[in-house]
Amino acid sequence: MLGTDSHTPNAGGLGAIAIGVGGADAVDPMTGQPWELKAPQILGVELTGALSGWASPKDVILKLAGLLTVRGGTGYIIEYFGKGVETLSCTGMATICNMGAEVGATTSLFPFTQASANYLIATHRAPVAKAASNALSETGFLAADQGATYDKVIQIDLSELEPHINGPFTPDLSTPLSLFREKVHENNWPKKLSVGLIGSCTNSSYEDMTRAADIAKQATAAGLKAKVPFLVTPGSEQIRATIERDGLTNVFENVGGTVLANACGPCIGQWTRTDLDPSSKESQENAILSSFNRNFRARNDGNPGTMNFLTSPELTTAMTFSGSMEFNPTKDYIITPSGDIFKFQPPSGESLPTRGFDSGNLCSRPMLTIGDESMTPSPNPEPVPSTEVLISPTSDRLQVLEPFARFRGDEFTNLRVLVKVKGKCTTDHISAAGKWLKYKGHLENISNNTLIGAVNAETDEVNVVYDYEGDTSGVSIPELGRRWKERGQEWLVVAEHNYGEGSAREHASLQVRYLGGRIVLVKSFARIHETNLKKQGVLPLTFVNENDYDVISACDRVDTSGIREMIESGGQGGGEVVLKVTTKDGEVKEIRCRHTMSKDQVRWFVNGSAINRDL
Ligand code: SF4
Repeated sequence: MLGTDSHTPNAGGLGAIAIGVGGADAVDPMTGQPWELKAPQILGVELTGALSGWASPKDVILKLAGLLTVRGGTGYIIEYFGKGVETLSCTGMATICNMGAEVGATTSLFPFTQASANYLIATHRAPVAKAASNALSETGFLAADQGATYDKVIQIDLSELEPHINGPFTPDLSTPLSLFREKVHENNWPKKLSVGLIGSCTNSSYEDMTRAADIAKQATAAGLKAKVPFLVTPGSEQIRATIERDGLTNVFENVGGTVLANACGPCIGQWTRTDLDPSSKESQENAILSSFNRNFRARNDGNPGTMNFLTSPELTTAMTFSGSMEFNPTKDYIITPSGDIFKFQPPSGESLPTRGFDSGNLCSRPMLTIGDESMTPSPNPEPVPSTEVLISPTSDRLQVLEPFARFRGDEFTNLRVLVKVKGKCTTDHISAAGKWLKYKGHLENISNNTLIGAVNAETDEVNVVYDYEGDTSGVSIPELGRRWKERGQEWLVVAEHNYGEGSAREHASLQVRYLGGRIVLVKSFARIHETNLKKQGVLPLTFVNENDYDVISACDRVDTSGIREMIESGGQGGGEVVLKVTTKDGEVKEIRCRHTMSKDQVRWFVNGSAINRDL
């Protein structure tokens, strides 16, 4: 299955090979065209033992992220196997697969287990459960082959696994709970917890909610209320309705929690914080805990001073009752309002609701039945010129997408480096979410957020760059991009490792292209973003020699050689492009780079973008 979200691999919890792609990338298979992927290797993760106490499935992936880092899964499918697999709930496996995106994996998957079948039955898909169970028992499909070998193996003993807290600012900075207090001191992280957030597509299963509610019930019995704002985001209408029916919403509200709409909400910056002083919140340093999957700087509330730590819903919930980042609920006590000493017991929950799921408000989603092809796209769609697209001329949220120009000529000449980025540059840095999401249908307006989270490698400033002529005082990156676009000056971005990590957000490539970006030159790419760039006619290049990152600077002039050959040879999946770099002082240097363009991708590049027609 392909899905237009980097967390599509959630479905690996049901034994699916489910891969996240950009929006334009998903159109290919929907219209009957082939979809390309460089064949991945297989990383086996052997799970032994069984989880107990405070440890949860989330801790498997939080630990793995620490072992692999955000790039360690790149080019791999992660396959979980071993006796420990049978002990996990289906939604627990989904949580683990969901966050495989955070280590760069192509996807993650589990074998089909009894827990998978139980989940399908509980979600009204008994015939699918039966077919999958038969496939497993009769043919061995949906499980690893006997004697399967892996390119690499990592072992995790679930019985020994501790709860983990990862962050801030990157999902792979992993700390076992027992060492977390020490880390808070060592790194001078805020000792006060400002907000606890649970839910999201990662962690709002019935099991997650019942375990978190168990903690909240224990606190209520002890007379405690959450000391800091406690927000719950159900990941679907089904879970929202089910937790409401089963009284869990009341449990959370009784301790002072707020159950939000079943939407992404604070996970993607749709959150107006009221707990910070509005006059200073833009830079106010504070710590929040969430059960989400990403914690890039400014992702949740737009505040670069917010340190977001990722952990399980149950641990997040417990921590809100102390309001302290130093609290360890597995061994610390809280003094209750009556002066008693209270210690939490390890959480318990139910993997599936005994009364079945409540479907909730069915009007909020399309009703499809098996065999209903009313929403299936035509395999060979043809343009219908009579179709009129009506957009209000005064709309600031919708705009007709004009085709990007074809590539004419043999090589790029006189490109300029718009910005040389230092450190992490995720799709959140390239195209921030939050308040910007409303402009997703208006490329011109959303382009005003292009690269606003990027750090200028030469000055350490965020979102400040300098022109090479005219007004050379510092301006924002999108402002300079726009200025150069008006001047007809095309440009490139230079950056470090794992460029485009995070969301599948194709605006991160559309905007760069719209403002005149033609090349992105980096030490390494995140897979989805590299393809998204190709789709929009931007050429992604990596340094042959990483140290060459140090020899190119902002506003340097760049001429290419090797693009003509790339076009003539049809890309062939890879080759070299040499950049002649002329510095502002007139010094000339050469940088060897690699492209990974296939025949189809070269066609997109020449046409101007993948959705332009062949001319
Ligand atoms: S924004 Fe957050 S909750 Fe929404 S799909 Fe992405 S990761 Fe999941």
